[in-house]
Amino acid sequence: MNAKYPRPASLAEGVGLARHTTMGVGGDARYFFVAEDSAGLKEALLWAKGEGLKVFILGNGSNVVVADEGVEGLVIILGRGFRAHDLDANGVVTAGAATMMPVLARLGVERGFPDFLFMSGIPGSIGGGVLMNAGAEGADLSAIVEWVEYVTPEGEAIRLTKEEISFSYRRSSLLELEGVVVTYVGLKSSLAPVSTEECESIVREFIEKRRARQPRIGRNSGSIFKNPLSKVAGASSPISGLSAGALLDRAGMKGVRVGGAEISNEHANWIVNHGGATGEDVRELIGIAKRRVSELYGVELEREVILWPEDIS
Ligand SMILES: Cc1cc2nc3c(=O)[nH]c(=O)nc-3n(C[C@H](O)[C@H](O)[C@H](O)COP(=O)(O)OP(=O)(O)OC[C@H]3O[C@@H](n4cnc5c(N)ncnc54)[C@H](O)[C@@H]3O)c2cc1C
Repeated sequence: MNAKYPRPASLAEGVGLARHTTMGVGGDARYFFVAEDSAGLKEALLWAKGEGLKVFILGNGSNVVVADEGVEGLVIILGRGFRAHDLDANGVVTAGAATMMPVLARLGVERGFPDFLFMSGIPGSIGGGVLMNAGAEGADLSAIVEWVEYVTPEGEAIRLTKEEISFSYRRSSLLELEGVVVTYVGLKSSLAPVSTEECESIVREFIEKRRARQPRIGRNSGSIFKNPLSKVAGASSPISGLSAGALLDRAGMKGVRVGGAEISNEHANWIVNHGGATGEDVRELIGIAKRRVSELYGVELEREVILWPEDIS
């Protein structure tokens, strides 16, 4: 039997998660806690362990779709104490896990770190980003992560160097560590510095490209599916090498709607909540899109968005 620990004083109950995610759907967290510092985080983790509760960590909620029945457990958000960043004399940036990636891209502009700039349009925290190996414009976090610090469900802080973490497309081995909370990330540019003016111009170009291809109406979670890596159909096939969005477009999915959720007319790999969508609407639409591409092209699309609670073991 687990030991009992005191209930954190600022623990809340029945908090709606829709407003904490960019898709804006889903029910309540049974328990909800904002960890303002490491001591508060440890207190909440130990209490949850003592109560036998499952713990869910929410970053900026930009890659999570919550179920309508909510989550039966403790949802933890990292607060102010995890939002600072600092650059040391060796060029390593230590960032609290709740620091938003665009803030770190801005630091990249100021310091002339070209490999930080891809983060400029990704609306997530560096903690969530490192778990997902977030990336854009042909770059991803694996190239600049030096180390990652996390806290175990028992409250122990552990630091892994980049050599101890494996990264692949929109995935890191950190996802396999059950119940851990990423608290700090060390980042270092591995490219020769460029001028701030040049960085500004690169970021402008990235943002213009994003504006041109991303839906501007409705709440969303960015890309729903990962791009298929294997060329299932063979090099000569017309679908060989197509992105998930291109496959979904070809499959006629643009504009397909379930309740308040719709496959965007601007980008077929995005589901947009036009207001009033439910977690079930989004799940149903994901299922329809996946089946359609499988039936038409024999390609099994893999989800990039994370469904709560079912994807959390
Ligand atoms: C408009 C839009 C554009 C996007 N563009 C891109 C893009 O270009 N490239 C890209 O890669 N992604 C993109 N995304 C997806 C998303 O922003 C990324 O996946 C991002 O890394 C998620 O970060 P987050 O803080 O929002 O994590 P969340 O969505 O809150 O969480 C994602 C997962 O990480 C876990 N997690 C989060 N923080 C922690 C932590 N501190 N410790 C342990 N676990 C944690 C959560 O439990 C969850 O399993 C986009 C999303 C939107 C809405």
